[in-house]
Amino acid sequence: MSTTGLRTVPFNRPHVSENELDYIAEVVRHGRTSGDGPFTRRAAELLSELTGSRQVLLTTSCTHALEMSAILLDLRPGDEVITPSFTFMSTANAYALRGAVPVFVDCRPDTLNLDERLIEAAITDRTRAVVVVHYAGVGCEMEAIGELAERYGLALIEDNAHGLGGAYRGRPLGSFGVMAAQSFHETKNVQCGEGGALLLNDLDDPGLAERAEIIREKGTDRGRYFRGQVDKYRWVDIGSSYLPSDLLAAQLTSQLESFGATQLRRRAVWQAYHEGLADWAAGNRISQPVIPDGCDHPAHLYHLLLPDLANRQAFIGHLAARGVQAVFHYQPLHSAPAGLRYGRQAPGGCPVTEQVADRLVRLPLFADLGEDDVAHVIDAVLSYEVS
Ligand SMILES: *Cc1c(COP(=O)(O)O)cnc(C)c1O
Repeated sequence: MSTTGLRTVPFNRPHVSENELDYIAEVVRHGRTSGDGPFTRRAAELLSELTGSRQVLLTTSCTHALEMSAILLDLRPGDEVITPSFTFMSTANAYALRGAVPVFVDCRPDTLNLDERLIEAAITDRTRAVVVVHYAGVGCEMEAIGELAERYGLALIEDNAHGLGGAYRGRPLGSFGVMAAQSFHETKNVQCGEGGALLLNDLDDPGLAERAEIIREKGTDRGRYFRGQVDKYRWVDIGSSYLPSDLLAAQLTSQLESFGATQLRRRAVWQAYHEGLADWAAGNRISQPVIPDGCDHPAHLYHLLLPDLANRQAFIGHLAARGVQAVFHYQPLHSAPAGLRYGRQAPGGCPVTEQVADRLVRLPLFADLGEDDVAHVIDAVLSYEVS
């Protein structure tokens, strides 16, 4: 330990991009702070370039983008939606809100992504959609999953909260599903505090984008009104208030403009952990992230799998005593109170999810993490011995 006191490394610190304060000031000065202003359009264009998705609607969160997807699918009570159990609750909650039943499928032990080999057994005649989460921005087995979705006529949705900038076999994550949801929460690679986007990829169905715009604007055809296509706007569908302020879009625009630079730094931190911890992990029965061939990931998070819960908790305590804030996630959805009430497990249950939830630790990872801090985290980790 240094004599100048304990170095502390927080788990996350949101990156401040170069122009965000200027852009926000511009919105305030112009006095047009509601949604669908110039920055909303600019951010959507930048996202479109990054993801290859031609129709991008900014939303107030990823959760809200998923809720919009559930409305767009016209889900009815009793319909079933296949989701992972190892994910953030919004992945299931958005569909439960429409009365659909989340059917929880286990994850793969290597990538922690939805296990494509278990999906078919979970399909019934009520199944309407499959929602995938690219954990840590490492692509799910999209070839197999896309083929299954097509064979059974299921809508494929991507919860791409981790995957902005990632690719599977050269194709951007977020471009596989008929719809995909992005998150710009403070903890994500690109952030505006709270924010999201819905990507629409079914170009054979232009009506989908039109309806999405209505749903985002409280069920009104206000978008058409502002474009002069109708002479008054009316309540035409169900919907809610899913359109973010142009203030948030201003911050988001600046963040997206500097995405390349942020990503370089995140990748450097990820790589330093991966190389610096390899021998220690191998000698201590600890698993590092597995990146299959053909997956380009955006260094969204760095996780380790400890041998068991007791070691996981001791490891987090060991790091905390050295000033390093490490955290765990996710608590399985299938056994959560709301998961039990609104969903059910697929045949075979979710044993891998249960194990992983006890064993996983995330290390600090953010763009402004300095080299000294990275070295300090690595030293702190290396001094832990599995018991
Ligand atoms: C962060 C996250 C969400 C929720 O994002 P919000 O923008 O906060 O609604 C949903 N799914 C996954 C997998 C996430 O990591």
